[in-house]
Amino acid sequence: MIKRMEDRRSEIWVCCEKRQSRLTAASSELIGKARELADSLGYSAAAVIFEDMSGESAAQTAIGLGADIVYRFCHSRFFRTEEDLQAWAIADLMESGRPWACLFPAETHGRLTSALLAARLKTGLTADCTGLSVEDGWLLQTRPAFGGSLIADILCRHSLPQMASVQSGVFPRPEPDADRQGVIIDCALPAAGPSALKLIGCSAERKAEESLSEAKVVLAGGMGLGSVRGFRALKRAADRIGAVPAASRAAVGAGLAPYSWQVGLSGKTIRPELYIACGISGAVQHMAGVRGAARVIAVNLDKKAPVFDCADVGIIADCLVFLEKLETYFGARPQGRM
Ligand SMILES: Cc1cc2nc3c(=O)[nH]c(=O)nc-3n(C[C@H](O)[C@H](O)[C@H](O)COP(=O)(O)OP(=O)(O)OC[C@H]3O[C@@H](n4cnc5c(N)ncnc54)[C@H](O)[C@@H]3O)c2cc1C
Repeated sequence: MIKRMEDRRSEIWVCCEKRQSRLTAASSELIGKARELADSLGYSAAAVIFEDMSGESAAQTAIGLGADIVYRFCHSRFFRTEEDLQAWAIADLMESGRPWACLFPAETHGRLTSALLAARLKTGLTADCTGLSVEDGWLLQTRPAFGGSLIADILCRHSLPQMASVQSGVFPRPEPDADRQGVIIDCALPAAGPSALKLIGCSAERKAEESLSEAKVVLAGGMGLGSVRGFRALKRAADRIGAVPAASRAAVGAGLAPYSWQVGLSGKTIRPELYIACGISGAVQHMAGVRGAARVIAVNLDKKAPVFDCADVGIIADCLVFLEKLETYFGARPQGRM
């Protein structure tokens, strides 16, 4: 079923990503945001879903989260590495009308697909937005700029769709409604050339990335931990209290922790119930990633460290001693109780 050109101008699309046959957290959160924007404009929210036929369909889940329409590409040819094919398929679908906006989760695949699609459509793309709203009928895309020293509001008035990507944790996850009704439109795969991308391997780091986005308690370390030994102590303490470990960019850059642990502007945006920052100064670029945390505990030797301005509880102490005490205290208790 092909819609008329003008119909699409009142649609907001979310190009979803699936992991282990389920919609990712960022995709679900974006559907909720698209629903909110669509309601404020009197538009429709749509989800674009690629099914590789290896798991259950996510179409009904997307409808339950707020999508009115699901454009579904279902074919065994869609593997996770084929972002270029996905970009072709979405661009092809837009031949019969471009939507008002097209949103992507800023995850490994969404980042690549959105960039390929924006280039093909010759439209703009605002990556890693921290806010989306409507101004004068246009999509107001907000993101930190110049290393977080400015917050930029961006409008793309000259071409459709208005494209933005958003990390997980920026918007709340909508409550699913199993009774919601929507339309599922099965779309034909375009004839595209062979993929220029090839999967050469998978690493276990992806698992850490996923769990960091969804963690309730995060124990993060910065340069104050000083060494790989310090990060081993952090990992041990995290395991002991049932937290997910994380790190500042400086620590990742120094090779003390993997990139998948990085929190902040150029890392993950997270919304844990508790964020414990050990030996982290609290630079704006770091704190941009933890604005959604319900509670922050900061441990730092410097009582003037900016991290204390954002902390609910501040502890002026050596973070290695703090971790040792945390591990000892919880060592006497069953693991994972915090
Ligand atoms: C464009 C851009 C993007 C960026 N993106 C990110 C990002 O995504 N994530 C990010 O984290 N950063 C990011 N940064 C870097 C950011 O500006 C900071 O440089 C970085 O966060 C600092 O990391 P840190 O706090 O671990 O190190 P430092 O700034 O060196 O701070 C170490 C802290 O540890 C304390 N300390 C030292 N010893 C101890 C001890 N024994 N016990 C307790 N405390 C101790 C010190 O008092 C200090 O406050 C970005 C920067 C730019 C320009």
